[in-house]
Amino acid sequence: ATPTALLVGSGRASQLGIVIKGPEILESTRQIDTMVLDKTGTVTEGRMRLADVLVPDGDEPDGAPRDLVLRLAGAAESGSEHPIARAITEAAAADDGALPRASDFANHAGRGVTAAVHDGDDQPDGGTSAVVLVGRPSWLAEQGVTGAGPDGQVGRLHARAESDGATTVVVAWDGRARGVLALRDEVKPSSAAAVADLRSLGITPHLLTGDNRAAAERVAAEVGIAPEHVIAEVLPEDKLDVVARLQEQGRVVGMVGDGVNDAAALAQAGSRGLGLAMGTGTDVAIEASDITLVRGDLRAVPTAIRISRRTLRTIK
Ligand code: ADP
Ligand code: MG
Repeated sequence: ATPTALLVGSGRASQLGIVIKGPEILESTRQIDTMVLDKTGTVTEGRMRLADVLVPDGDEPDGAPRDLVLRLAGAAESGSEHPIARAITEAAAADDGALPRASDFANHAGRGVTAAVHDGDDQPDGGTSAVVLVGRPSWLAEQGVTGAGPDGQVGRLHARAESDGATTVVVAWDGRARGVLALRDEVKPSSAAAVADLRSLGITPHLLTGDNRAAAERVAAEVGIAPEHVIAEVLPEDKLDVVARLQEQGRVVGMVGDGVNDAAALAQAGSRGLGLAMGTGTDVAIEASDITLVRGDLRAVPTAIRISRRTLRTIK
């Protein structure tokens, strides 16, 4: 391989917003046959929007008013930067102005958040305090919350919202599940074209996410990824294993991601293939990757592969 050709190839890429850590990366780029795409922020915009607040009917034993569920969830999420948290906090503030006071925030990656929330500072009785949890039902159950599973009213509302293809979280306090928040995120306009282009290059696209299966399959269908290539409900610490398993099957894997949660999997992909980070994503993901897509547009992925193939064909 002539160094000059490699430099010309990586120079050409950088003009297109594809920043390659070293010219030798072009060789591994050329060999990729499988591309794992993170969902949120990579295939989708990563800007969630609250679509619905679901609570059991008022006369049910665990009934809590819709606006209370949203207000307490908004306060508990105000300590998190997650797209889910931002959407909930913004919607609660838009609804109610100032959010209740909250402290003792804890974030549990890929699971949910907890906080101590004090509501009703302006009330004559001084208001009430509660430990509020917002997150996935399986994690809430591990925390001792009741009513989030399939036997509870809130659990059933959750299952219904999920089967609609929404991203969903359950809100709980005082040990009981109280309501469900359904969120939606738009697919980026260029994602479907990028996936089609990857296919035309003979590369099999996979979708990887911590989100629920129905929400993941909705996005996959929109961009043209086969349901059997959707890997959903993966905890952050298990994303690396998903990549490793594909590698063990003999595939040369590229992965595209943007989040802190993706960094270990991006590094794993890079160790025997290629890690690519969205330039619009976190610094941790960018540092863990071989290539940065400055514009955060997935169409740069097939472009990078074309450049690598052309460059190395010239050399031989
Ligand atoms: P992704 O793979 O899409 O980036 P994450 O691993 O960040 O997803 O999150 C997976 C799931 O964990 C979410 O769908 C949600 O159920 C739960 N979760 C993560 N962060 C939060 C949060 N701040 N509040 C509530 N739930 C959360
Ligand atoms: Mg992401």
